Amino acid sequence: MTSDKKENCGLFGIFGDSEAINKTYFGLHSLQHRGQESAGIASSDGKFIRCYTGMGTVKRVFRRGSAVFEKLSNPIAIGHVRYSTTGSSSSINSQPILSEYSRGQVAIAHNGNLINASLLRDEYEAYGSIFKSTCDTEIITHLLAKPSHVSKPDPLAHVLNHLQGAYCLLFLFPDYIEAARDPYGIRPLCIGQTQAGAYIVASENCALDVIGAKFIREVEPGEIVRLDKNGLHSRFFVKPDSITPAHCIFEHIYFAKQSSSFFSQNVHEFRKKVGKQLAIEHPVKNADVVIPVPDSGTSAAIGYSEESKTPFDMGLVRSHYVGRTFISPSQESRELEVKLKLAIVKEVVRDKRIVVVDDSIVRGTTTKSKIEALRQAGAKEIHMRVSCPPIRYPCFYGVDFPTKEELIANDRSVEQIRKFLNVDTLGYCSLEGLLSCAIKPQENYCTACWSGKYRIPVDIAMNKFSMEHYQLHMFDEIDA
Ligand code: AMP
Repeated sequence: MTSDKKENCGLFGIFGDSEAINKTYFGLHSLQHRGQESAGIASSDGKFIRCYTGMGTVKRVFRRGSAVFEKLSNPIAIGHVRYSTTGSSSSINSQPILSEYSRGQVAIAHNGNLINASLLRDEYEAYGSIFKSTCDTEIITHLLAKPSHVSKPDPLAHVLNHLQGAYCLLFLFPDYIEAARDPYGIRPLCIGQTQAGAYIVASENCALDVIGAKFIREVEPGEIVRLDKNGLHSRFFVKPDSITPAHCIFEHIYFAKQSSSFFSQNVHEFRKKVGKQLAIEHPVKNADVVIPVPDSGTSAAIGYSEESKTPFDMGLVRSHYVGRTFISPSQESRELEVKLKLAIVKEVVRDKRIVVVDDSIVRGTTTKSKIEALRQAGAKEIHMRVSCPPIRYPCFYGVDFPTKEELIANDRSVEQIRKFLNVDTLGYCSLEGLLSCAIKPQENYCTACWSGKYRIPVDIAMNKFSMEHYQLHMFDEIDA
């Protein structure tokens, strides 16, 4: 059985802190925007790992002070929050995944999407391996347990060289944690430290801020960071700087929290810059007000408003009490979800020429519902501005985009999309404009969803495994 799911999740790990369970709980809370489908924590007293996972938000799965929480109160812990995706909602896929193999226990938490997982899984199943979940991550346990891998000088580095795609991984062994980031650095992962000196790894630094820990640095692409009783140790499983990074710029556009900084840049500042760029590329004459689609469009709308000298206002107000899992993510439920999620301040939009700023249009269905509601509320003109180019290609590295056919921009021109949405004008930020807002060199970002240029060849994802490409990443010294 194979998996076609997209897994963009949140990770948190801490070593050697008497409050590790509380810090993991709050850290995961602050990463909740990265996933609300399931939450889990695995912790160790130095000898034995316990793990508890459940469906829903962190608050729903864990009750502080409960018996489960007490049992998990150990000084070493890793935690995971998982994103809700169509058709993959099941408790068997919640993480961390705890297993036992010849070297003892290991709990694994994964953020990202392995594009060769199906292929590896088919191979292992053919030799009799049994899988408990439909989750890509489970294959890593089997790779770790393979006797010929266990005997390698650095088994983890050897195993990581088998993986293709996007991954940030946390491994909890009874007396240490290992954190790894894929050689392209597609998803973010950072290192922090508490005042008392305990090391932390987390998907975003907002998880450090919430527990008063300081940011130290990002985990480098292709790096393994080990946290143990002697502190923090680093090693690389590919030659450092041998691969040009392919950071997912969509993390900055949509996925991450505005207060977080990674890929050497703050998320809010980046979005604001793109909003300014959008105002330069697609100005609107005589607009009365700029309104964001909250929360993802807010920073860009501030930038648009500042650059265009058009007043900013809240024409749409978001309800924070509608969770993503409240309604199953089917096509019909989206319209109702929009109405529940976004209320219109009629006084702001009635008889006005409005500029509506959002971060992206994916299927176009929820955007159409929002525009329809704004028209009903009396908006005179609606000018839609989007802070990334038309999304024409699916993501194989973890962002939950639908199939190519479902993407509205797949086979439609901007003018056709404008007509579909029923807006007066529609302007997308250009790819060049978007990349000009990023700090790193342009070639350091993955732009596949707009350009179709997949940095890791996706024929692997389609089961046409390219041995040549795979060999490219083998780190000779490790395999010697
Ligand atoms: P739609 O009009 O249906 O394409 O929805 C556009 C909205 O979906 C925008 O407000 C985006 O912020 C949001 N969005 C973008 N990417 C995703 C994603 N991967 N999952 C869920 N929502 C997304």
